[in-house]
Amino acid sequence: MVGARCAGSPTAMLLARRGYRVLLLDKRHFPSDTVSSHFMQQQGVALIKQWGLLERLVGLGAPPVRSTSLNFGPFVIRGSALPMDGVVEAYATRRTLLDEMLLDAAAESGAEVREGFTVEGLTFENGVVAGVRGRLNDREMTESAAVVVGADGRNSMVAREVGAPMYDAVPPQAVTYYSYWSDVPTDGLEIYVRPDRSWGMFPTNEGLTCIALSWPVSEFEANRHDVEGNFLKTLELVPDVAERARAGTRVERFRGTADVPNFFRKPFGDGWALVGDAGYHKDPCTAQGIGDGFRDAQLLAEAIDTGLSGRQPIHEALGRYERARNEHAMPIYQFTCELAALQPPPPEKAALLAAVAQDPQTSNRFVSLIAGSVSFAEFFAPENIERTMAVAG
Ligand SMILES: Cc1cc2nc3c(=O)[nH]c(=O)nc-3n(C[C@H](O)[C@H](O)[C@H](O)COP(=O)(O)OP(=O)(O)OC[C@H]3O[C@@H](n4cnc5c(N)ncnc54)[C@H](O)[C@@H]3O)c2cc1C
Repeated sequence: MVGARCAGSPTAMLLARRGYRVLLLDKRHFPSDTVSSHFMQQQGVALIKQWGLLERLVGLGAPPVRSTSLNFGPFVIRGSALPMDGVVEAYATRRTLLDEMLLDAAAESGAEVREGFTVEGLTFENGVVAGVRGRLNDREMTESAAVVVGADGRNSMVAREVGAPMYDAVPPQAVTYYSYWSDVPTDGLEIYVRPDRSWGMFPTNEGLTCIALSWPVSEFEANRHDVEGNFLKTLELVPDVAERARAGTRVERFRGTADVPNFFRKPFGDGWALVGDAGYHKDPCTAQGIGDGFRDAQLLAEAIDTGLSGRQPIHEALGRYERARNEHAMPIYQFTCELAALQPPPPEKAALLAAVAQDPQTSNRFVSLIAGSVSFAEFFAPENIERTMAVAG
């Protein structure tokens, strides 16, 4: 397993729990932060619960989030996500804490963890991936494996080495920056959408509030020398938000990236597989990456077990993994790419969103789309859309 965060550690944990010998490698030493805000939707929390880790997650101290508002200016969709496997709370645990918890869970399940191990390349036998070569404390090492899993993020070295094909790609559309404030109260997860801007605010550990804000990638150069000025100017678009931010104190530096491409990669081949961002990446505006990493870890661990135990040829099992991943991901991927364009919704969509905002039940179902507890197919079924529009008159 190359990479030990949201995708790699759970995959390692689940395979180790099934009795496989798993070697989990990461070039970092944990606890380790990463450039990412960290709102974990109910989809992710439900898997944490299924894996028996919910108490530990809660114990890490981020407050539970039970409500979401999407403020489009003329109207606000405000709701609480429907339960997902009994889970109604989201959490925005800092990555230093979350990723270490996941790594520990993998180690406790029997995976061998090597931190500070940089994988420099793959080894091949007759065109089939047979292992990795890399470096630990300046010592060169090779390791062999029945399957090498790239859980090594969007710029995956494993994907590059095997030439994993990309599909449904959309170039980066937005730049995202974030930081942390003390004494800035929020009402759960607050999301604001304005022309050329969007941002989210949510509570995290130590009583802090994270604000993550995006502008178009075309403004990257113009704004990069004054991130703070442009960030605060954007918050002024909503006076109440600007006032709250001014009354609080920013306690950390701004972090951000323009490297947010949108793509799927074919996630398997001879002797290799990809999981998490390595196989499927998208703009963070809908905060799906952590939960998606968990879901794909679960699907991939099941597929590898099915293949290695001989219940099904491994290529077929991994093919099912790819189809299941895409089936879950495609609708929210399209929604995410639309939102990341930072353009006002077309009139028909705007009318629907305004109608959703008028009905509390429909609002709950709408925020559940992002939380993962209601499917796009169900929400956007013609009879539901008709009913929503009729209720709104
Ligand atoms: C600005 C921003 C904000 C975001 N906000 C959210 C949010 O609020 N909610 C959400 O759900 N998602 C968010 N995301 C997405 C989320 O961060 C990712 O989806 C998630 O981290 C993916 O996890 P991963 O394990 O697949 O990859 P990563 O987190 O990228 O982990 C990959 C690991 O692989 C290791 N690695 C890489 N190459 C090697 C190598 N050669 N040898 C050894 N180790 C290697 C790295 O050190 C790293 O630890 C955000 C992303 C960004 C950029």
